[in-house]
Amino acid sequence: MGITINGASPVFVEPDMYNNIDADRIEEAITDRTKAILAVHLFGQASDMTKIMDIARRHELKVVEDCAQSHGNHWDGKVVGSIGDIGCFSFYPTKGCGAFGDAGCITTNDPEIARKARIFRNYGSDYHYHNVVVGANSRLDELQAGLLRVKLKHIRELNEERCRIAARYDAELDNALIEKPMVRPGADSSWHQYVIRTGHREKLMKFLKERDIGTLIHYPIPPHLSDAYRYLGKKRGDYPITEQAADEVLSLPMYNGMTEEEQSYVIECLNQFAV
Ligand SMILES: *Cc1c(COP(=O)(O)O)cnc(C)c1O
Repeated sequence: MGITINGASPVFVEPDMYNNIDADRIEEAITDRTKAILAVHLFGQASDMTKIMDIARRHELKVVEDCAQSHGNHWDGKVVGSIGDIGCFSFYPTKGCGAFGDAGCITTNDPEIARKARIFRNYGSDYHYHNVVVGANSRLDELQAGLLRVKLKHIRELNEERCRIAARYDAELDNALIEKPMVRPGADSSWHQYVIRTGHREKLMKFLKERDIGTLIHYPIPPHLSDAYRYLGKKRGDYPITEQAADEVLSLPMYNGMTEEEQSYVIECLNQFAV
């Protein structure tokens, strides 16, 4: 949405085996109208920021990091949101550090971007009733900010807890019909989601549902096939890697507070699944 409301057009790039933008395919998508690269650090792990920053430097492009699912994650030892020109964080309740309602922030090391963002979020006003641009009301509510300040201190332990759950899935899931997720060398994962692949997704979802295990698909409709972007004129077959992912991914139960017994049951059921 950020792309579209600013009058720009999104140009899609296929993902790599880690469900993030495939940096090796970015350059073929760049034209003389390209302004920026948007790297979404999906499911809790970083995109290949070394390659992305190198491409951006060579083509003089800005880099926006979408860190909504990767609070506290790293690329090559650097925390995400500190590598590109802007990092965007969501504090929606389901995110790594969630507020009690909608909230978010951006990070930047560029004082000019910071100044403009502060003006924009406050109706476009640089001081009282002095409007310099058409802005928005996009301030972080004080109560949410207070809550987030407390929660932020616990982000490492919350991430570590999900890492332990993921490690157990990695070690104990044993079913040839289920492909486990991988973490890119250079990245760490906070396991915002534990996303498997299977060619038998519908059957597996039904099998698990019958056993009271909930799963979700992140995400069933790729942006280029969504109604919202129909006007771009894309069709099925244009991004086959994306489309295959959308047809095969399944997010397993993964949340802070998941007990050992609960996970044992999930693993047992997954290992029993057959077609
Ligand atoms: C949740 C999410 C967003 C949107 O965040 P909001 O705070 O709801 O605006 C953007 N990108 C990704 C990857 C997300 O998971």
